[in-house]
Amino acid sequence: MATMHPAPIAYFEGNYVPVEQAKVSVMTHAFNYGTGLFEGIRGYYTKEEDNVLVFRLPEHVDRMMRNAKVLCMDIPEDAAAVENICVELIRKSGFKEGVYVRPIIYKSELSLGPTVKDVASSLCCYVIKLGDYCDITAGLDVAVSSWRRLSDNAIPTRLKSTGSYVNSSLAASEAKMSGFHEAIFLRENGTVAEGSAMNLFMVHQGKLITTPVNADILVGITRNTVLELARDVLHLEVVERDIARTELYVCDELFFSGTGAQVAPVRSVDRRVIGAGKPGPITLQLQELYFNVVQGKVPEYRHWCTKVY
Ligand code: PMP
Repeated sequence: MATMHPAPIAYFEGNYVPVEQAKVSVMTHAFNYGTGLFEGIRGYYTKEEDNVLVFRLPEHVDRMMRNAKVLCMDIPEDAAAVENICVELIRKSGFKEGVYVRPIIYKSELSLGPTVKDVASSLCCYVIKLGDYCDITAGLDVAVSSWRRLSDNAIPTRLKSTGSYVNSSLAASEAKMSGFHEAIFLRENGTVAEGSAMNLFMVHQGKLITTPVNADILVGITRNTVLELARDVLHLEVVERDIARTELYVCDELFFSGTGAQVAPVRSVDRRVIGAGKPGPITLQLQELYFNVVQGKVPEYRHWCTKVY
């Protein structure tokens, strides 16, 4: 039941508890070795329906459950149970606003040794309120990072693993400490990968281009959403291919996609102005469509929205 004063609830060790009570030991394997696997899922409040709609919940849970195999993680909850926990947490917390749900499967044993095999895993989950994660109106000033993107063969970028976010944190912090809003990662081979916590799209001569799934990226659900909307609703030509660094400077439009970032226009890269230095027309069209879809206003994509209340 919704309450007047939302109080965040967490799912921890099989129970729903106030978030302050959801605590792990200093000896927890995941805390020591970065062996956690998580998701970030948004719920959007719609005034018209007085409800919260969770965006592409089954797809997020499916990604986490598939990727759990890489880290040899086994938990008692199945995908349907995890989906239910995510929705239940928003409901129990009483939120009627924009929310962000964070399920985490983590190596919960208090054991020593960097191994993933035969180390017990558990599920926990929490929910917070979340508005915009970064500016999505004026356009972001971004820099190509001096930090390289992890190689999928080193710490798999395909996984949203807790340990891999050291890489993202270094790049995002470098960018911010140098006066930029965000970073773009290059791969070890010098081609473009993605942002610190978002995928990257480029518009060049009417085509929408993004880096392929084997380019050391997290295969974003927003990326998939943007590709589908661009192709099927806006009838744009979409291309998944490597992007060279210098293409970033000469393209017509650039934007990030992500659950947090949503559709976030980029107005400059390394102080080179992109296009007219403001969000471009295709970016704005996609952004508007995206917000209509997540708010449940586009009937063809209503199945992407899960009602909380
Ligand atoms: N890349 C990275 C490194 C991320 O952390 C995220 C955020 N989850 C994304 C891309 C975008 O993924 P999604 O659209 O599934 O949120």
